[in-house]
Amino acid sequence: EGWKPTPQQTSSSAFNKHCQFDQHPGYKQLQIIKNGAKSLGVPSPFFKIHQGVAGATSIIDDQEVINFASYNYLNLSGHPEVNQAAIDAIHQYGTSVSASRIVSGERPIHQELEAAIAATYEVEDALVYVSGHATNVSTIGYLFGPKDLIIHDEYIHNSSVVGSQLSGAKRIPFAHNDLDALEKILTENRHQFEQVLIVVEGLYSMDGDYPDLARLVDIKQQHHAFLMVDEAHSFGVLGASGKGLREEAHVAGQDVDIWMGTLSKTLSGCGGYIAGSSALIENLRYLSPGFLYSVGLPAPTAAAALASLQIIQKEPQRIQKLKSISQSFIRQAKAMGFNTGDSVGMAVIPIILGSSVKAANASAALLEKGINVQPILYPAVPERSARLRFFLSSEHTEEQIKLTLNTLKTLL
Ligand code: PMP
Repeated sequence: EGWKPTPQQTSSSAFNKHCQFDQHPGYKQLQIIKNGAKSLGVPSPFFKIHQGVAGATSIIDDQEVINFASYNYLNLSGHPEVNQAAIDAIHQYGTSVSASRIVSGERPIHQELEAAIAATYEVEDALVYVSGHATNVSTIGYLFGPKDLIIHDEYIHNSSVVGSQLSGAKRIPFAHNDLDALEKILTENRHQFEQVLIVVEGLYSMDGDYPDLARLVDIKQQHHAFLMVDEAHSFGVLGASGKGLREEAHVAGQDVDIWMGTLSKTLSGCGGYIAGSSALIENLRYLSPGFLYSVGLPAPTAAAALASLQIIQKEPQRIQKLKSISQSFIRQAKAMGFNTGDSVGMAVIPIILGSSVKAANASAALLEKGINVQPILYPAVPERSARLRFFLSSEHTEEQIKLTLNTLKTLL
C-alpha cells in the first residue's frame, strides 16, 4: 500500500485563508470601514486617551475638555470618599481576592455590598459578578435552555443577546418599547415553551428612553413569564432618590424577577449585579459559570461600589442636579431645532444628525474646541440615525451646556 493523501491534505491550500487573522471576516470588514473613513478625511473617534478622572470634564491630549462621553453620571468615580474606601480595602485585602468566592475568594466586603444592593431593591438577596457583560451572559445563559423562549427589546445590550444565544433558547426581539408587539408575541408563542423570559432595560443607552414598567409587570404576570430589567444606565439615575426605574415607575422590588445592573456607571467600580429572590440568587451563586468559575470581585472595587451606593443614599441632591441639568440640556437642544429622538432628557441625550460622516466630523470639530462627545456611527445604529450621544453628569454647568450647544450649532 503506497501513501495516499487524505482529502484534507490535497486541498490544504484552500484552507490557508482560514488560518490567517487578516483574512477573518470581521477584520476585513473593519479595514473597509477604516479605509472608507480615511478617504473621507474622518478622524477616528475611537480609543481616545483620557489622562485623569473622566467626569463632567476630562483631560485629553493634555487639554482640559468638557466631557459628555463617560457614564460617571453622579461624578462619584474620583470622589475622595470612594477613593479612600478603595485604598482602605487594598490595605486590608490587597488588590485581588485570588480565587473564586466559592473556594477561598469570599471577603466581608462582598456580602456587605450585596446586602446593600438587595436592601435598595427591597428584595431577598443579590450577587455581584466581575463584569457587567459577564453578568448578563452568565445569568441568562445559565438559567434558560432550548425549551425556553426569550423575548427582548430590539435595542437590548449585546450582553443580553449573547446570553440568550448561549442559552440555546428561542429568541424573539420586539420593536423598541412596543409592548403591544411584545403581547402579540407572547399570545402567539407562550404555549409552545416552558420558561419564558422578557428582557428590557431601565434606560436605553443609545436613546435615553425607558419602557412602561408597570405595564410590563402586568404582561409578565398575565403570560406567566419572568421579567428581567437591566438597570446599567438607570440605577442611580432614575427615581427621586436614584433607586432606578422601579422608583420612577412605583413598582415593588419583587414585581420584577431579575434585577440586573452594573457597578461600572453610577457605582464607580467594575462588575455587575443580580438582585431578586433567595432561590434565584442561591442558584446563581452555586451554579452560574461566570460567578462560579471566575475570581471574586476585587475588594477595592467592591468597596468603591459600596461607598458610591452610600453616597447616593445620603446625597439624593446629586440625582436632582443630574435631572435638572439634563432637562435644561434637552430643552435648549430642542429649542435650537436639534433632533433628540425619544430621549426623556435624563442623563442620556442623543442629537441625531442622520449621517455617520457628519457625526464623526462634528465630534472631531467639537474636540478641537474643547468639547468631548462620542459619535455613534453605522453599524452601531442605522445610518439614518447616526448621532452624537451626550452623557450628562450632575457636575455639568449651565455655561458648559450653553457653550456646547452653541458651538455645535455653528459647526453644522
Ligand atoms: N448592560 C448595559 C445596558 C450596558 O450598557 C452595558 C455596558 N455599558 C452592560 C450591560 C455591560 O456592563 P459593563 O460595561 O459594566 O461590563
